[in-house]
Amino acid sequence: MNFPVYNRGLVYHKVSEQFEWGLTTTTPKQFKAQMQKLKQLGFSFSTIRDHDPGQQEVLVTFDDGYASIKRYAAPALAEVGGVGTVFAITDYVGQKNSWDYFPEHKQVQHMSWRDLRELHDQGWEIGSHGRSHRRMINMDLADIRSELVTSKKQIEDQIGQEVVTFCPPFNAWNSDLLHLIEEAGYWRIAISYPLTGLPSWSGEFVPRLGVYLHDMLPLFLAKIMVNPLAPVAVLQQQLINLAGDGKIVENWLNPTGK
Ligand SMILES: [Zn+2]
Repeated sequence: MNFPVYNRGLVYHKVSEQFEWGLTTTTPKQFKAQMQKLKQLGFSFSTIRDHDPGQQEVLVTFDDGYASIKRYAAPALAEVGGVGTVFAITDYVGQKNSWDYFPEHKQVQHMSWRDLRELHDQGWEIGSHGRSHRRMINMDLADIRSELVTSKKQIEDQIGQEVVTFCPPFNAWNSDLLHLIEEAGYWRIAISYPLTGLPSWSGEFVPRLGVYLHDMLPLFLAKIMVNPLAPVAVLQQQLINLAGDGKIVENWLNPTGK
């Protein structure tokens, strides 16, 4: 079965049982069901680096590099024969996320270098999310360069492979930053799905849609199969087609067919 694919890039943050108000967590059960459903529909799962545009591939990506990704997401992806891309914050590898706004007792552990190396050995791509998870467009030039160049080198030293994909923290980027990203030796940037079109750049944009705690399976599938840039009327029609066409909603509501 061939479904229309409008968006291949998905972005997750935490895959964990631990509830949080930020809603950037997906439960391990939800994540596994999402991957299994995509596999069932004929999709495979590639890193950004090894993506073949001719294939029906989904690019599952993880910002921030939390330990829960190695623990829950990697095994679930392995079960469907897939790999993903993780964007590490290099100053916080092996540390808690004290860069975030949560109080200390709610802080979450990032993967260690060893974890990241193991994922890389399993075929995952390790990209850079900078050093400190700050909004880079407000920084001075020396700090931006340090975020870009130092983080790249740190990851490369640890995994023994060139790092070519950068993901700007908070999706904060502009033309000046694109220029500096390129200058630092990256040629891809992973961003949120742009609503206003993209500037010209010699590198490659990897647009992604976020997956959140409240995303039930039909909404999750719509992220891939519905054109996120379409006007609302077209979007509605696409959702209706999607629901009817693949019987996706029906299957989801009544998986045993009774
Ligand atoms: Zn982030």
